Amino acid sequence: MTDSANEMESDSAVYKTLLESTKAIPWKIDWQTMQFAYVGPQIEELLGWAQSSWASVQDWAERIHPEDRERVVNYCVAQSKAGTDHEADYRALTSNGGYVWIRDVVHVVRNGQGEVEALVGFMFDISERKKTEEALISLQKELEALSYKDCLTGVPNRRMFDSILEVEWERARRNNQPLSVIMIDIDFFKQYNDHYGHIQGDSCLKRVGQALNSAATRARDFLGRYGGEEFVLVLPETDEASACKVAERCQQLVLKEQIVHEKSSAGRIVTISLGVGTIIPAHGDDPTEFVAEVDRRLYQAKQGGRNRIVRGG
Ligand code: GH3
Ligand code: MG
Ligand code: MG
Repeated sequence: MTDSANEMESDSAVYKTLLESTKAIPWKIDWQTMQFAYVGPQIEELLGWAQSSWASVQDWAERIHPEDRERVVNYCVAQSKAGTDHEADYRALTSNGGYVWIRDVVHVVRNGQGEVEALVGFMFDISERKKTEEALISLQKELEALSYKDCLTGVPNRRMFDSILEVEWERARRNNQPLSVIMIDIDFFKQYNDHYGHIQGDSCLKRVGQALNSAATRARDFLGRYGGEEFVLVLPETDEASACKVAERCQQLVLKEQIVHEKSSAGRIVTISLGVGTIIPAHGDDPTEFVAEVDRRLYQAKQGGRNRIVRGG
């Protein structure tokens, strides 16, 4: 062997050692034959499949999670044909039936004429990163759910009510359907707090919230805490007569709780006052104005002596 041939051989031995001792798994695919020209031996440790079992592009494609396969194969083929370096994340099948998240980073090699000759790349194990990502996403979802929930009573909060009302208003307008809203306020609740203390006041609020929640029986019925000791019901596709029935049910359910309230002038137990409104929203109608009208009816119920329902007309 000549000196330079010797040198080259020792160089490539160095490269091979380097490539095969990194965590990233090197590979090469011949573009003409679509066969693996090389894949690092580390692949066996990561995925369990023997180095020799990686013969063609087909072997690679078959070992991609079915949910990722089409997207990844189509994307990689298109990018390679266009001669563009690219990368793809996917779940690779292991020999024992599990999956490992892989990031494949691909470089397109061209010959002297500029034609695609081969693809070379590295596979990185990104399962740890994905785990963190997934944990973050589920945390975000949890946070989002929490931010729509009133932490004292467990029912959705004002923010959620605003979103729901907007959606249901729009839907009712489009479908020309009646939408009903009931505003509910606990009677003499300040006296309740003053007499029994805030802790018991809180537990009274929870009980009333739960009782009211069971009055909302249809799938899209919504009960939220409007603020303080006020609750609100949104009843889609509900006319006034049906809404009044729901209001009566609310009143009965709270009475049934029999929460003692010695300082109430409306009886010796906790009662509620309710305002009911129904609308088929038309262009130009304003949901805020509608809610304000329902709130005026609630005020009338208070003025009229409390523990009662005021409807339109
Ligand atoms: P009305 O019959 O006219 O509704 O009289 P009220 O006393 O119920 O109404 P007011 O608005 O005067 O008082 C409401 C009280 O509700 C005052 C406040 O201390 C109490 N409150 C509001 N939010 C909470 C809460 O989260 N926990 C407790 N314990 N009390 C609350
Ligand atoms: Mg009140
Ligand atoms: Mg109030």
